[in-house]
Amino acid sequence: MMANRHSEPKPTKIYDEVMHANHGYAESFGDKANLALPPARGFAILTCMDARLDPAKYAGLAEGDAHVIRNAGGRASDDAIRSLVISHKLLGTKEWFVIHHTDCGMELFDGPTMAGLLETSRATASFDGTSWTNPQSEGGSPDGWHVAWLTFKDLAQSVRDDVARIRNHPLTPKDVPVWGFIYDVKSGQLLPVE
Ligand SMILES: [Zn+2]
Repeated sequence: MMANRHSEPKPTKIYDEVMHANHGYAESFGDKANLALPPARGFAILTCMDARLDPAKYAGLAEGDAHVIRNAGGRASDDAIRSLVISHKLLGTKEWFVIHHTDCGMELFDGPTMAGLLETSRATASFDGTSWTNPQSEGGSPDGWHVAWLTFKDLAQSVRDDVARIRNHPLTPKDVPVWGFIYDVKSGQLLPVE
């Protein structure tokens, strides 16, 4: 047994809320049972996991329409590119959108800060607007030093960098347009990045 292994969690209030919501969703699932696996509208979005972003709403998606690949920052990580390549090569998407956003948490720290925090403690840190503080100084791990956290300081440049990385990747087909956008969390608008 691994030293760090979690015990099986007990159902929580959040767990119950999710299951309750799902029961309602499944009851009115209707003809979504007949959706095809390949996305019907033939495109993919790479965007941030930020809870304020709802790609289905900001880009007008219904179930079955498009691939949405999300991670912290909406970064073009190796794993995001893996998903995009599968999206096109096996599931036929023909356009890709990279959508970062204003007020992204990835601008609030850097890799060494994150690794240093984790080395001291894995518990949730707090941010005072300037710096991060651990709630305790035990239960840390040095493994954070081996993760590329993919933070950024310049939002527009982060979009340009990721669009360029995807366009220049050897597995990206030349005829797939890769669009770069910033989503404004104050207005809901998608702003093109040149
Ligand atoms: Zn974000």
